[in-house]
Amino acid sequence: MSSRRNFIKKSGLASLGLLAAGAQANNMKAAAFKRKRIVKPLAISTWKNGMQANEAGWQVLKSGGRALDAVEQGVKVVEADPNDMSVGYGGRPDRDGIVTLDACIMDETGNAGSVCALENIKHPISVARRVMEKTPHVMLAGDGALQFAKEEGFVEENILTEKAKKQWQEWRKTSDYKPVINIENHDTIGMLALDAKGDISGACTTSGLAYKMHGRVGDSPIIGAGMYCDNEIGGAVATGMGELVMKTLGSFLVVELMNQGLSPQKAVEEAIARIVKKIPGYQDFQIGYLAINKAGEVGAYSLHRGFNYALYANDENRLIDSDYYLK
Ligand code: ASP
Repeated sequence: MSSRRNFIKKSGLASLGLLAAGAQANNMKAAAFKRKRIVKPLAISTWKNGMQANEAGWQVLKSGGRALDAVEQGVKVVEADPNDMSVGYGGRPDRDGIVTLDACIMDETGNAGSVCALENIKHPISVARRVMEKTPHVMLAGDGALQFAKEEGFVEENILTEKAKKQWQEWRKTSDYKPVINIENHDTIGMLALDAKGDISGACTTSGLAYKMHGRVGDSPIIGAGMYCDNEIGGAVATGMGELVMKTLGSFLVVELMNQGLSPQKAVEEAIARIVKKIPGYQDFQIGYLAINKAGEVGAYSLHRGFNYALYANDENRLIDSDYYLK
């Protein structure tokens, strides 16, 4: 047989294999849909501050609004809250005393927008949405992101609060850089929503790790790392030590695992298992994942104890402790 025919035969067999795998995945997805009644609308957000994000998102969702608006309105509440020192206004600065913000957003069409290392703007998530809706790009960084924000009418303001500044000045006395698991030096808000129409969107916004190097960008604004949605499948968000999430492209991985037929819970557990397998020293860091699928099933899992999330479904907003790996 000529090598060309051999090739065709082999690729034909390969595609048959792929078809079989695809059919199996479809069957598993169908089974997942049968498992449970579809719960919608719903909103799910990382950490305790997710409760207030969900409340705002629910105002949009309960009146039949779009998941995209729900996640933007939801995370904006946390961005504006000076008491959340890991997101937006009041966020802790980098080691040079500068607050730099990262955010991303995705809608039900697969459109995406993001900003990173953005300074002096209170609502990076809304700038990310404008990037998505008004530019041919997905991501704007630093000065370019700020310039675009100003052109779009966003007002520059000082987002370093006195409280955050004092803590940074205190930190500078030792300059000891050691992220503390679950302590508020990371606390990103990641939010996913499934609206009444069955559409999924997601948002993620953060000031990143406290006292990071100037210019450090984490997972949160990276589409597929900090957040990912596919309206045919589901969505995922990540929080915790961004470097570990970036190295495993965590949120995309979770959604792809759901595409292969895993439930949201099994998918987030597998994404954590991937970190455990691939990244030495993972024990020193916290990572938390949330996921939803089209059927309104949810998943949550973290490396360490202490990750919690807010779930608004069936007209009730609840704060729930996540299951975790390191028992
Ligand atoms: N993932 C964020 C980052 O690495 C931090 C966090 O989730 O708290 O920038």
